[in-house]
Amino acid sequence: MDGGSALVVGGGIGGLAAAIGLRRIGWRVTVLERAAALGDAGAGISLHANGIRALDALGVGKEVREAARPQYTGGTRVPGGGRLARMDGAALERALGTPIVGIPRAALHRSLRAALPAGCLTTGTEVTSLDLTAPGRVGVLAGDGVREADLVVAADGVNSALRTQLFPGHPGPAYSGSTVLRAVTDSPVPLESDFELTWGRGAEFGHIAFLDGRAEWHAVLNSPPGVRHPNALEVLRRRFRDWHEPIPALLAATRPDAVLHHDIHELAAPLPSFVAGRVALLGDAAHAMTPNLGQGACQALEDAVSLAAALATTSGVDSALARYDAERRPRSQSVARAARRAGRMGQQLSHPVAVAVRNTALRVAPDRVALRAILRHAAWTPPSLVSHSEVARPY
Ligand code: FAD
Repeated sequence: MDGGSALVVGGGIGGLAAAIGLRRIGWRVTVLERAAALGDAGAGISLHANGIRALDALGVGKEVREAARPQYTGGTRVPGGGRLARMDGAALERALGTPIVGIPRAALHRSLRAALPAGCLTTGTEVTSLDLTAPGRVGVLAGDGVREADLVVAADGVNSALRTQLFPGHPGPAYSGSTVLRAVTDSPVPLESDFELTWGRGAEFGHIAFLDGRAEWHAVLNSPPGVRHPNALEVLRRRFRDWHEPIPALLAATRPDAVLHHDIHELAAPLPSFVAGRVALLGDAAHAMTPNLGQGACQALEDAVSLAAALATTSGVDSALARYDAERRPRSQSVARAARRAGRMGQQLSHPVAVAVRNTALRVAPDRVALRAILRHAAWTPPSLVSHSEVARPY
């Protein structure tokens, strides 16, 4: 099925990817984004093989790989520097064709935007509500009036207003108990490992190395929500001054105004459906998860490919959306549960005895256990965006 019209609400990673996927199957697409400009959307991001395969299916994998740094070395350590687990990027590459890659978010956004024609993206347009009254159509109310389409993709993030309208009884996002401060260093930093996490008691410090030698770092702390520091970088330099290198070096190479601070919210109560009428929820709007597995954006990219594939290969929009829900909801909600568990057993653990037991278990576990944990979520094969009848059609 092709030739439908879609409105994508939200121009984040999920919304842009959805727009690319829908255009690839011949749909007319407009992305409505409330921000005045789409620009630097945060620090950096790691992409697992499933995210990269989704980008390949969308036709932008090559550009993203060229801007990304493969993460071959690293793993998990304790604040004194001792190693808990090793990440073997070469083994991941052998198993899945690619190791994890690290990329500045701005570069990923650029690659996604470049795959869309200029007229496809409308910024400075906030969607306030949906009109679901016309059968087989859906309308959105935006600042500049009402627009109609065959399909709306709600990719408006963790605080999705569209999700609230569609599922008024759902409790919405919940605070995870952790807050995250992060930045990209101002200059290159000498790093022994591409990718590292260090777990203390109720605290994690991690980095992802970029192609140009700079790195993104993040500090995740157990905290009540809403706590902010006038000089966050100074607070972190004190908090982590006794932790192993390169942590103090990463903080030293950062400008105070580069630090971003967000409380981490997730959809702890899973949605009963990713579809309501002619609206498909996608990305964080559908399944916001804690960042402990580095899978939130990867799942949004999977959503985008699966939605386009379902529409391309299923007869009728309603059946295609039912298939999208059936394929995406169990998988993404199971990854979200695993991410929550990983946070609770990793960064959030603070009792000294529990921390000691966890660390001992990780130290004695063979490296292949860590590898298997990554493979469990990263081994995903994208569905085809081409319908069977199209493949068989004699030209
Ligand atoms: P968003 O990025 O939130 O985009 C939503 C867009 O919708 C925004 O541009 C917003 O302005 C717009 N919008 C909202 N409301 C409206 C409206 N009413 N009308 C119009 N526009 C609207 N994932 C990974 O895969 N790997 C990682 O390494 C990773 N690290 C992370 C680290 C941290 C600290 C955090 C917090 C998350 C991390 N994630 C990671 C998760 C990832 O960032 C998200 O899952 C992903 O960005 C979600 O994309 P999205 O497009 O669904 O939502």
